[in-house]
Amino acid sequence: MIETRNPDSPTTGTDWRPSPPHVVIVGGGLAGLAAASALVRRGLNLTLLESRPRLGGRASSFVDPTTTEQVDNCQHVSMACCTNLADFCHRVGTADLFRRVPEVVFLDEEGRTSPLRAGLLPAPLHLTESFLRARYLTFSEKIRVGVGMACLRLSRRDRPGESFESWLRRHGQTDRTIHRFWGTVLVSALNERLDQMDVGHARKVFLDGFLRNRTGFQMEIPTVPLGELYGLRLQQWLDAEGVSIRLKTGVRSLTFDDDGAASGVQLRSGEHLPADFVVLAVPYDRVNALIPDNVSPVLPELRAVSRMESSPITGVHFWFDRPVCPPDLEHVVTVGRLIQWVFNHSAIQGREPEGGGQYLQLVISAAYDLLPMDKTAIRDAVLADLASIWPAAREATLTRWWAVTEHGATFSVRPGIEALRPPQRTPVDGLFLAGDWTDTGWPATMEGAVRSGYLAAEGILADLGRPKRLLRPELPMAPLSRLLLGSSPTLTRPTPPTTAPTASPTR
Ligand SMILES: Cc1cc2nc3c(=O)[nH]c(=O)nc-3n(C[C@H](O)[C@H](O)[C@H](O)COP(=O)(O)OP(=O)(O)OC[C@H]3O[C@@H](n4cnc5c(N)ncnc54)[C@H](O)[C@@H]3O)c2cc1C
Repeated sequence: MIETRNPDSPTTGTDWRPSPPHVVIVGGGLAGLAAASALVRRGLNLTLLESRPRLGGRASSFVDPTTTEQVDNCQHVSMACCTNLADFCHRVGTADLFRRVPEVVFLDEEGRTSPLRAGLLPAPLHLTESFLRARYLTFSEKIRVGVGMACLRLSRRDRPGESFESWLRRHGQTDRTIHRFWGTVLVSALNERLDQMDVGHARKVFLDGFLRNRTGFQMEIPTVPLGELYGLRLQQWLDAEGVSIRLKTGVRSLTFDDDGAASGVQLRSGEHLPADFVVLAVPYDRVNALIPDNVSPVLPELRAVSRMESSPITGVHFWFDRPVCPPDLEHVVTVGRLIQWVFNHSAIQGREPEGGGQYLQLVISAAYDLLPMDKTAIRDAVLADLASIWPAAREATLTRWWAVTEHGATFSVRPGIEALRPPQRTPVDGLFLAGDWTDTGWPATMEGAVRSGYLAAEGILADLGRPKRLLRPELPMAPLSRLLLGSSPTLTRPTPPTTAPTASPTR
């Protein structure tokens, strides 16, 4: 086991006792938070550094200055197949702050709803009954989609560089099935347009989310703002577990010792914080700037990270003076519109504007078309779209609104993306990566971020000679799913460029 001196408590003579290994986690998003949560109570000295004044990273809220209420940067939902996110929330005591939604409601242009829910048949056929009843596709289109789904399972040899849209056309899908079904599900699930989407990622969404297990597709919706869920509550929990949390503390660069091992971090304030292990849990586009030039040559996979691209998401918040959508409707997925999801926060979180009315949150993923528009133009376009669904939006008064476009919401799942995602363990002794963009086998999601944090924590514990499995297994595959679909698809890196880690025997 590694033994270190605590630099903050110099010892003299016979008083010397080994201090616990010091782990510095850079980044207080879900990846960093998951790493910290998994490393508490293991005899380690943990420090979490976050440049912003709050935890949660991209899954956070800001305070509306006029009302002081917390407004999410954007609605975040997960699915029941996100087993590691669920484990993390149980671990930190926030699992009760979600509502499990057993059906996903689709709304077509004619205003007809089609709920997708598990019927009597076992997985992978459990959604067949409600899919056959769906009103946004004709019967022959449903058959066509079914054939496409079977091909997605059977064809495992993807053409390098092919987009999912091109794959769909090669497999007999029409404009209508592509845009009304495949695009409706996938653009928001993967935050990318079909013509720029990796086939393997699309396959994973359908097979793992919808076909593997009866409950995998069910949604988990937070019943409180993200700022409370992944911010305040996490801060209290980590504090109580003895983690030193330093907000508004940006890291300027990592430091390395003469042997090339990670030795700590240099803060923007100039302070140096020594560490035995560093978990770098910042977004992919910040990583290379934190690693000095003389170290980056030994991290070839980090050079590949700079070839990743981002995809934007726009979240729009509307507070109306009266109900616009049916008060008991919690969410809808809209088919063939600018708006892709509507969440009724008056119903989900009981957040009714003062004096009545309704608070709706609307989401547009892969929002490339909105990038050139200013916020007012986005508001008007989204409001017009909403009014074409529920005309009451035209008569209602918009008392408050926000339009938030996150340009770098997630990394883009372009064809071949897996080759660019590095593993959490780096070839540098003591340095681990975490973040939804690392090699997690998952798309850019909260689940992916938590997985990466757990994997980094597993690496540290292994180096300390205390290996521990932290990663939770996927939902079990239903027997008929196993029979009909075979093993679960994995997103694998084609040619891992790294060699074995250079960890010294002392670590
Ligand atoms: C608008 C939007 C909607 C989304 N919707 C969903 C959804 O519905 N479901 C879902 O599963 N996922 C969703 N996601 C994706 C999800 O938010 C991310 O996958 C996840 O939060 C990423 O966590 P992370 O820890 O990897 O990165 P981040 O959350 O980006 O955390 C990195 C942290 O590092 C900090 N940092 C950066 N540089 C430094 C530095 N030099 N020093 C110290 N700290 C630093 C940052 O401030 C940040 O807090 C959405 C994302 C966005 C933006």
